Amino acid sequence: MSFVCRFAPSPNGPLHLGHAFSALVNHRAAEVSGGRFLVRIEDVDTERARPEFEAGILTDLDWLGCPPSEPPIRQSDRLADYAAALARLEAEGLVYPAFETRAEIARAVIQRDLAKAWPRDPDGTPIYPFRRQEISDEERARRRESGAPYVLRLDMARAVGRVGTLYWQEAQGNPLGRPVSVTADPLGWGDVVVARKDAPASYHLASVLDDAAQGVTHVIRGRDLFQATSIHRLLQELLGLPAPVYHHHRLILDIDGKKLAKSSGARSLATFRGTGATPDDIRRLINLPPRNSRAEQDQERQDAEGSPA
Ligand code: GLU
Repeated sequence: MSFVCRFAPSPNGPLHLGHAFSALVNHRAAEVSGGRFLVRIEDVDTERARPEFEAGILTDLDWLGCPPSEPPIRQSDRLADYAAALARLEAEGLVYPAFETRAEIARAVIQRDLAKAWPRDPDGTPIYPFRRQEISDEERARRRESGAPYVLRLDMARAVGRVGTLYWQEAQGNPLGRPVSVTADPLGWGDVVVARKDAPASYHLASVLDDAAQGVTHVIRGRDLFQATSIHRLLQELLGLPAPVYHHHRLILDIDGKKLAKSSGARSLATFRGTGATPDDIRRLINLPPRNSRAEQDQERQDAEGSPA
């Protein structure tokens, strides 16, 4: 089977070793399966997205030896599709506008924590502390018309009630590995945001719509997004989208054992390049064999032996 894979960076900073690993693993999976490697610029957060970072991403991918098979797509060009999907969810009563500020949410969580530990989502963030029923649909509509800022939230209990238990296929060990069924648990996320104040989508909604629009067959990304896949499977089901196979790969950690992040100043690929590092040096740093080496082919043979025919 030829895989359609994608690398989906946000253009809000330079790529680091963690991105290099993800891009190279996606590119290789597409290459060995005779498929395509797509790039998607996740610039739905317009406040933080910068064109110079987008240009830097493409330069880095070329340099690493994993250029996209086609010109990249940008989320900012797809807002009409996101709006149409939201309209559909809203017509089915599955999303609602919520008006609380971050500070109001934080205060409510503290109050609830004082009574009894308030539940956290799988990322450790307190789940949304209010309930849809606290404000009538008419009152929400009135506030929205009056121009009050709002996000759209998924009514998680109702959405899950609509589709029942869901599963996804997770390739084991490597992207070509044998997939096993994983039970999705979207309820643990609470009423997640599906449209931000400033855009007709959140990461979750945009990414499932884009994966479907790009015909992605295999979503290969870091383990930090494993649990979020529960939300993605739910949105796919609600919107009648196909479910790709997933593979959540290991994360590249810094010397303190923490995940590399732009926000904590991880060294950029451009900095490595500027100090004379080669693409094979980068591969060594992230524990990938040199490109086209015997070690790379051996690794793939072993991987393929564990995969379905
Ligand atoms: N833009 C997301 C990130 O950089 C991509 C997540 C995904 O691959 O689904 O983390």
